[in-house]
Amino acid sequence: MTAQLIDGNALSQQIRAEVAQRAAALTARGVKPGLAVILVGDNPASQVYVRNKVKACEDSGLHSVLEKYDAAMTEAELLARIDALNRDPAIHGILVQLPLPKHIDDHKVIEAISPAKDVDGFHVSSAGALMVGEVGFKACTPYGCMKMLESIGMKDLRGKHAVVIGRSNIVGKPMAMMLLAANATVTVCHSGTADLGAMTRQADIVVAAVGKRNVLTADMVRPGAVVIDVGMNRNDAGKLCGDVDFDGVKEVAGWITPVPGGVGPMTITMLLVNTIEAAERCAA
Ligand code: NAP
Repeated sequence: MTAQLIDGNALSQQIRAEVAQRAAALTARGVKPGLAVILVGDNPASQVYVRNKVKACEDSGLHSVLEKYDAAMTEAELLARIDALNRDPAIHGILVQLPLPKHIDDHKVIEAISPAKDVDGFHVSSAGALMVGEVGFKACTPYGCMKMLESIGMKDLRGKHAVVIGRSNIVGKPMAMMLLAANATVTVCHSGTADLGAMTRQADIVVAAVGKRNVLTADMVRPGAVVIDVGMNRNDAGKLCGDVDFDGVKEVAGWITPVPGGVGPMTITMLLVNTIEAAERCAA
């Protein structure tokens, strides 16, 4: 069996076209959706991520501001910038690129963002809203994974067993909550799981969000299962790869996401969706 590909680039294009339409409609009403992206320090990977986010905004007709600060910026200075952006009516979404330099407390910074502008969905109030089914902002990466499932007709997951590998606050846990909200039966695995393969072999859907190559191999996948690969790693040749042994697993799975070209572009797309949503809520 050769799995069908869930193409994150193609799905992103489609969703970004809808974002552009919504942005144009809002702009015509005098509200140009605006995203502020803050980068502190010169982490090379973060520089690429923020550039891509700002470019995606521009391509979809959103206003974006990139604020770059020296690694020596103090926590108090960063909190003051966030406070100013919280009060800026031209800005509907605020994203602080992580990781921050060690002398700045990530949690304190994220909690300083107004929940109404928390388009990354990392604020405690966004996580709480997801938990109890209230309106908030969904964390972009798991939100993108849910859209990928929807794109193959898997919106209501009643009767499906989903296994999430990883339990971080930004991917694994919100992913599990979103799958639960879509009526799946959910198992969350992590480094303390005794027999990962025994869990994943029961799954109709496996989401791998670990950050280690080959965490999921063909022998761990039920034939026909949907496999979503969130991981971002480098192989021996230095090329981007996921957590899934793609070549092996694609022979067993029914659907699979590639890396690159899978969850990565969807994460940025859902940031645009959240920003539009924030602006629409503000204009309502
Ligand atoms: P993280 O905070 O390091 O969490 C990794 C999780 O994997 C932890 O829950 C850990 O368990 C679990 N784990 C580690 N080794 C394991 C093993 N052998 N078997 C089962 N579980 C294991 O990472 P993260 O921030 O969630 O990110 C995960 C991956 O997704 C990374 O590669 C990251 O780069 C990527 N990512 C991609 C995107 C994207 O847009 N494509 C966005 C965000 C993240 P414990 O909790 O027990 O330690």
